[in-house]
Amino acid sequence: MTEFTPVPDFALGPDIPEAGYAVKDLGGGAYFVTQGMINTMFVVTKNGVVLVDASPFLGDKLLAAIEEVTPKPVTHLIYSHAHADHIGAAHLVNRNGLKIIAHEITGDFIKESKDDRRPLPTETFKSRHKEIDIDGVRFVLDYTGDWHQAGNLFIHLPEQKLMGAMDSFTPKSAPFFRLYFSAHVPAYFDAMDQLLEYDFDTIVTGHMALPGTPEDVATNREFIHDLRTSASEALRTVDMKEASAAAKVPANNKQAEIKVWMDAVVARAAELMPSWDKRLAGTDIFLTDNLNATAWSVFID
Ligand SMILES: [Zn+2]
Repeated sequence: MTEFTPVPDFALGPDIPEAGYAVKDLGGGAYFVTQGMINTMFVVTKNGVVLVDASPFLGDKLLAAIEEVTPKPVTHLIYSHAHADHIGAAHLVNRNGLKIIAHEITGDFIKESKDDRRPLPTETFKSRHKEIDIDGVRFVLDYTGDWHQAGNLFIHLPEQKLMGAMDSFTPKSAPFFRLYFSAHVPAYFDAMDQLLEYDFDTIVTGHMALPGTPEDVATNREFIHDLRTSASEALRTVDMKEASAAAKVPANNKQAEIKVWMDAVVARAAELMPSWDKRLAGTDIFLTDNLNATAWSVFID
């Protein structure tokens, strides 16, 4: 097996009880729920529960977690984005009268996916910015760019000082593959700046077992800037002809030439990266994936 750096204590979440999930009170009627690998949030209003996403990894446990907190029904479901790992259990929450809110682009993705587990939203909006009051709780839904998937939302609860930004980053850990599967890498970099413009104390980001803080956003931003600095320096210094010659790529194989060159760029960028092991977990796991995504973006965007 490949050897990975052990997960440091600072990145470990709470032990997950036998029931398979853990709930954390975030104040102001808001709760964080995780099963260890995936997480989300919900808010209790005067009439019911507003839930963000319904992951198949949580499945029925999501409803059990809500029932642990309140007997009120789920009245609203907000889709953060269209990906099935976050909303593929929405059919379990769906019942007559449930309002499902999403950006119009998310609705279009779901339509195309023809997936019974992801019911279509009942209310969509086209704008970049939408504010709604749901039974006395204010939600700001912002689509600032394709930082993860087109239609992805920042879900801000100003009174609770809470932010939901699913698949934006992982508190205390390096980003997943290719900067969290970003649909548009420059937008991913911008998203960290945009997040820090909101007023919040807690951020829920969709994976693993820890909610984060603005400081965690800033740390992720600093880490990805180091990725970009290293990738840029490697792009400047690794020569395509030299890389091809060193790998003995035949002169007529231009695709192989590009592949060998980018691999050399990534290898050089990895050497240039400062050590982050004391500040983030898992920096070794997706380092080359993230450098590859960053280097291609610096090269072509
Ligand atoms: Zn996603």
